[in-house]
Amino acid sequence: MSEFEFRHGVMHAESISVPDLAARFGTPCYVYSRAAIARNWKAFQDHLPAPHKACYAVKANSNLAVLQVLAELGAGFDVVSGGEIARVLKAGGRAQDIVFSGVGKSEHEIRYALEHDIGQFNVESDAELDRISAIAVAMDTTARVSFRVNPDVDAKTHPYIATGLEANKFGIPMQDALDTFKRAATLPGLEIVGADCHIGSQLTETQPFLDALDRMLALVDALEAIGITLKHLDMGGGLGVTYQSEQPPAVGDYIQALLARMASHPHLALYLEPGRAIVANAGILVTQVEYLKASRTKHFVMVDAGMNDLLRPSLYQAFHDIVNVCESSAPEITGDVVGPVCETGDFLGQQRTLRVAAGDLLAVKSAGAYGFVMSSNYNTRPRPPEVMVDGNEAYLIRARETLEDVWRGETLIPAQTEK
Ligand SMILES: *Cc1c(COP(=O)(O)O)cnc(C)c1O
Repeated sequence: MSEFEFRHGVMHAESISVPDLAARFGTPCYVYSRAAIARNWKAFQDHLPAPHKACYAVKANSNLAVLQVLAELGAGFDVVSGGEIARVLKAGGRAQDIVFSGVGKSEHEIRYALEHDIGQFNVESDAELDRISAIAVAMDTTARVSFRVNPDVDAKTHPYIATGLEANKFGIPMQDALDTFKRAATLPGLEIVGADCHIGSQLTETQPFLDALDRMLALVDALEAIGITLKHLDMGGGLGVTYQSEQPPAVGDYIQALLARMASHPHLALYLEPGRAIVANAGILVTQVEYLKASRTKHFVMVDAGMNDLLRPSLYQAFHDIVNVCESSAPEITGDVVGPVCETGDFLGQQRTLRVAAGDLLAVKSAGAYGFVMSSNYNTRPRPPEVMVDGNEAYLIRARETLEDVWRGETLIPAQTEK
């Protein structure tokens, strides 16, 4: 099921036609479906009754209205910066439902998190643990901590989004985990509550998660044997979505498989941190065709969105389906869909077959995750607006940037006068 379906030959976002949205908000423009976000969220929530818990990975799409939709559904949140904590609080999320991941937490961020008494820190190194302990003691409070362990499993995903191998910068190696937990138990200002891992992103099989879980459960047992009892195991995010022809497991099947493995540990709660699985297919990027261009060897469809608006194709060779928003009788061409940015790597799709003419609107699908959040002003391009559709209402949840927005904070220096 999709909230972006064709009716009478025209793509709709829920009940609103995409051309109507483009007329109202201009292009390029991100469009999200509230119903899709809610449905994706509930698929997790329904299979994770308390004390189990899902924490939405804010970095996938951190727009305040997106966070608000999830906060209203009672979501927990996985954040990777003080800024993301502030966003969650601003959107109505509860501090107790925040887990704070990330390899480089600054003193300022740790203090801020403790001031708000967030749920827990997912600690990534011994040095970070010492820092959290010292700050918690100075603030006369207790930090709940989980350790991110690197289970060293191959998630079989793109190298840039694989995080669970020894060679990655994330977490502590499994063979050091016991010592690290032992040491943590001796430090003041800390309460050890769990262990966590996150093995990668866009995984389309359950097996790597189960491999990681087995290793984590062995650690839980080893800790138990030395008197350290964990309350929960956080298995991170990473469940893949369908961009093209991938067939990730259904959310329920994936969670049931994990919970079945944990049946031997009934006191242990499962936490998950889905990002992409919640928002990727809940968003599209709408763009307009500026020109068609053909060289002797190749067709180009030049559109008004570029790599600054949606970086994934350029950065990861990621595939996003691209469709004409209106069924067209234009001649079929096969070519690259490219943006206006002055980089050869600026493409949204390569060798796509489309019926398209200049002026047509295209939808770049599955753009709700790691889309707007990775956008930039490269080439002095104001970032596009974000719109949330809810039934037959559309809300502008982030205005298109103006040039003033783009150079806010920049200043001229005194003019050089001739001597
Ligand atoms: C990025 C990230 C996630 C979310 O990953 P998805 O693949 O989007 O589900 C979850 N946890 C941590 C620690 C992350 O860094």
